Amino acid sequence: MADAEAADLRKLPSVDEVLRTPEAGRAVERFGRSAVVGAVRTVLAAAREATRAGEGDAPDSREIADSARRHLEIEAMPSLRPVLNLTGTVLHTNLGRALIAEVAIEAAGSAMRAAVALEFDLGGGRRGERDDHLRGLLCELTGAEDATVVNNNAAAVLLVLNTFAVNRGAIVSRGELIEIGGAFRIPEIMARSGAQLVEVGTTNRTHLKDYAAALGPDTGLILKVHTSNYRIEGFTAEVPAAALAELARQHKVPLAHDLGSGTLVDLARWGLVREPTVAEAVAAGADLVMFSGDKLLGGPQAGFIVGRKALLAQINRNPLKRALRVDKIRLAALEATLRLYRDPDRLAERLPTIRLLARPADEIAMLARRLVPAVARAVGSAYTVEAVDCRSQIGSGALPTETIASAGLAIAPRARKGGGRALESLASALRRLPVPIVGRIEQNAVVLDLRCLEDEAGFVADLAALDLGGGPAPRPKAVP
Ligand SMILES: *Cc1c(COP(=O)(O)O)cnc(C)c1O
Repeated sequence: MADAEAADLRKLPSVDEVLRTPEAGRAVERFGRSAVVGAVRTVLAAAREATRAGEGDAPDSREIADSARRHLEIEAMPSLRPVLNLTGTVLHTNLGRALIAEVAIEAAGSAMRAAVALEFDLGGGRRGERDDHLRGLLCELTGAEDATVVNNNAAAVLLVLNTFAVNRGAIVSRGELIEIGGAFRIPEIMARSGAQLVEVGTTNRTHLKDYAAALGPDTGLILKVHTSNYRIEGFTAEVPAAALAELARQHKVPLAHDLGSGTLVDLARWGLVREPTVAEAVAAGADLVMFSGDKLLGGPQAGFIVGRKALLAQINRNPLKRALRVDKIRLAALEATLRLYRDPDRLAERLPTIRLLARPADEIAMLARRLVPAVARAVGSAYTVEAVDCRSQIGSGALPTETIASAGLAIAPRARKGGGRALESLASALRRLPVPIVGRIEQNAVVLDLRCLEDEAGFVADLAALDLGGGPAPRPKAVP
């Protein structure tokens, strides 16, 4: 070992010396003594390595203490962090889908702080049912006779299949055997539910006579699936739910309709393209209709099953129902969310999903133009910043081919050479912000669709922390 190195190593403080600094004192107050001791040891070990490798001067006690504090601050950040969704996909499954209405957040908070009459009938002082809290609202909003709620729509489909088609046939059109991202594939869910898949028709065309030919004594149900995330165009045919309902009734088997996103209101009122409503699916004669809580409905994750009373009674007797049920927190949030639908005129003010989807493009374009100077300052002269028109998507498989006019910022590296890396480092710097920004990369630019940006001042203030020189993660420099 060289003499200079050995001298540097001796200059490194001891753990005790570091702990005696005021910086360490403040860290102990915040994080506790044992956490600080651990972090100081880690930082010291890294400093020893760096000194041995001849990288710069040995840090002093206060620098080590500061480093340890930064290390602990980063560790204290929640893993499930709030991010700014500027991807242009409003209901982004990987970013948590729907934002919850304030009333629903409050309701969930109250349900967490106190005991609640979850399965308790306050009128009679007897045991009540979990489903009682939503049944009335769901029936009112959909026109169904009865309703229940489970963990998500995948669970709703599983439960329906398992209740009516175990070891029996479930008839589905080949055009509706879809995969919804992640691992939700209709044929696989059917297999796990114990139902036997009976495919009818072809990929592009299925007729009523195909269903009729497949019906038999072993048929458990007919399943109709809304092909949420893709469209077949050209020479196509599908059987409308009303005609299927008639056929199902003649053969005394239930028709279950998986609507996917489903919506309780006609979105055309906000200038969006029509998606079939749950009430329409019920009115068309489906015996059971399943749909999600956190897609267009704008609530927390949940799956609803609405339909005929006798069938819901069978579902409720299925032991799987217990394994798929929702807790009081989500029930409270769902009840508050559904209640908002009683006043559709004010839905756009109160429900974030509708508010964001209905936000006019010219308002977003004005926001984009206002933000250009602040963003240009933050990213520096190596990038150009432009207000651009773009298209948002609803997401989560709702209306996959429809896009909504929107606006945003396109940030592009000025230099052609090394442009790809400049783009990646910009996207990465945006993700390292205190509230990480997630945009999309499109034709040599990071595009930030501003449809979901509502806190303009907060966004501008956060930009001050943008660090384009930084590494892959916000780590204090002395810590490996
Ligand atoms: C999204 C979707 C599902 C799954 O719903 P989750 O609530 O995500 O479980 C099932 N079926 C269809 C048609 C869908 O679009």
